[in-house]
Amino acid sequence: MNYQSILNSIEQEINIHDFEGKVANYIPELAKVDRNKFGMHLHCINNGHYAFGDSNERFSIQSISKVLALIMAFELERDAIWKRVDVEPSGDPFNSLVQLEYENGIPRNPLINAGALVICDILVSHLKNPKADFLNFIRKISNNPTINYDEKVAKSEKEWGFRNSALLHLMKSFGNIKNDIETILDFYVYQCSLTMTCKELSETFMLFANKGRILGTNEQIIPWNRIKRINAIMMTCGFYDEAGEFSFRVGLPGKSGVGGGIVAIHPNYYSVAAWSPKLNPKGNSAIGMAALELLTTKTELSIF
Ligand code: GLN
Repeated sequence: MNYQSILNSIEQEINIHDFEGKVANYIPELAKVDRNKFGMHLHCINNGHYAFGDSNERFSIQSISKVLALIMAFELERDAIWKRVDVEPSGDPFNSLVQLEYENGIPRNPLINAGALVICDILVSHLKNPKADFLNFIRKISNNPTINYDEKVAKSEKEWGFRNSALLHLMKSFGNIKNDIETILDFYVYQCSLTMTCKELSETFMLFANKGRILGTNEQIIPWNRIKRINAIMMTCGFYDEAGEFSFRVGLPGKSGVGGGIVAIHPNYYSVAAWSPKLNPKGNSAIGMAALELLTTKTELSIF
């Protein structure tokens, strides 16, 4: 299959000016990003790389990082984590508080903010230096020592993190948060501030397409059984109240972030990342979704 020519046709077919979309501005630092950026990178399991547009520019991966924190917490606590966070789609916006009240402080899944904050609490309990240890883990699975946090984005989110703070307080009242709220919030905003290019993101998520092994060294970092479960959670919960729509249109497990990035994987075939900061009303990249829909349609490669 000529992947590069398929990617070129996607770039040509998508006119970014046809899409409305708003750049996230509740984190002031993110509002500064050029809304017309658009790039895509496809990384195949045979180590092929195909790309177009702004695929080599770093952006804030935001909620995409929740999958990486989850896999680390899953390694540390194994199935005990499912006592504190469920695995059901929420059907609610990513930062919603409503379900928590009547579900006794147990978040629906680890990819909404409430669930991701519980995962951060677990990591803070286990790691000596949460920020440094998490970063080292990401550098290892991405095989890239240059990956880093963006302090400006982290600080900007922390100043405006009232909803996340509310989620933490509510869950603490139910006994589902063990550590100090400030410490968890600080770790969470750093985790979300990781910056990567589409290429780096697709390389990092190759782990999920390659049964938990690092492509190249073949080192088994995560057992396949745990990768299988995380992929299932990405499929059912990766796009909040638009998870059904993403599954319907694209047909791959994936995760979005309010920085405009989307990563998706096709187990045993490829990992792909798209970036465009224009978000639809559900907080997912409108153009990223359209690009991925075209990719699975044109390649006839979706898990369905
Ligand atoms: N850091 C962001 C927040 O908590 C992440 C949200 C997202 O990417 N959907 O609001």
